[in-house]
Amino acid sequence: MGFWNVFDSISRTKSFTIGNHRLILNGRATIGPNFPYLLCMMVALGFLVLVILDVFANRIISQIIFLVFVKIEYMLLIGVGCTEPGIVPRRSGSDSSSSPTTHSANPAPSIETIVNGVKIDRKWCYTCNLYRPSRGKHCALCNCCIDKFDHHCVWLSNCIAERNYRKFFFLISNSMCLSLFVLVSLTLGSFEGWKAWLALLASFVLSLITGNLFIYHLKLILRGSTSYEITKGNLGNESNPFSLGDWRVNLNAFLTRPTDPSQVAIIDTTTPTTKQSNWKRSHAREDEMTTLTTNEFGVEDSGIP
Ligand SMILES: [Zn+2]
Ligand SMILES: [Zn+2]
Repeated sequence: MGFWNVFDSISRTKSFTIGNHRLILNGRATIGPNFPYLLCMMVALGFLVLVILDVFANRIISQIIFLVFVKIEYMLLIGVGCTEPGIVPRRSGSDSSSSPTTHSANPAPSIETIVNGVKIDRKWCYTCNLYRPSRGKHCALCNCCIDKFDHHCVWLSNCIAERNYRKFFFLISNSMCLSLFVLVSLTLGSFEGWKAWLALLASFVLSLITGNLFIYHLKLILRGSTSYEITKGNLGNESNPFSLGDWRVNLNAFLTRPTDPSQVAIIDTTTPTTKQSNWKRSHAREDEMTTLTTNEFGVEDSGIP
């Protein structure tokens, strides 16, 4: 812990651990469980960048456009990898301050929440001592419950979820544009040598991968769904209760909804910001969706994780 003590004293903030996440800067950023993978990916990308810059040696315009894409790529890599993804704070067994269901000695294995007429099972998490949020999951790699869980990406060292999904989509969009730009530039120009062939092969493979990811996640955004819900197989169609309406409304919500404040950061989160209040007022349907139900102990589920 010596390193973190030094880091905290230099930054004049606090760092702490939840599950396998090391939250730094008062919890505003995180060092995830697979951080070496993220570093390896950034180094590998740096190597490719040097190779491609060499191939573009006599093309100043191509170099400038390429470097702009690369700068955005690194900013988004760090942004997705180090943003607190939506960790739900753990509760102690004696905590009875928030949800009435948490202080039972033997909680029900799951409770039902009705969302827009569709029953959603919320399982009890024995590690975090709480009922998972209706769109949440306990991530085994992060070892904590994550709200609006999409998937865990080992290479980004983080869960892709509530608070970093938009950045993740912009990351795969930028990666696709970057790969296609290199591929098209190389194909249209004359090139020779192993560096040019390596750049061509890498940009071709990455174009295919990122293009597929882009189309897949764009579909999810238009449906208002997540990869995890599609995997579960029951929320990926028109009956998805989390959809705000048609695809235009879902896309608009994805692009304009302010990011929710972190539940674990050491900041005042008791009152939402004006921006968030305004957004929720104009998108009231989502707030009204969750209907209260009664669990087997006769205790009303508050809908709050
Ligand atoms: Zn959990
Ligand atoms: Zn995770």
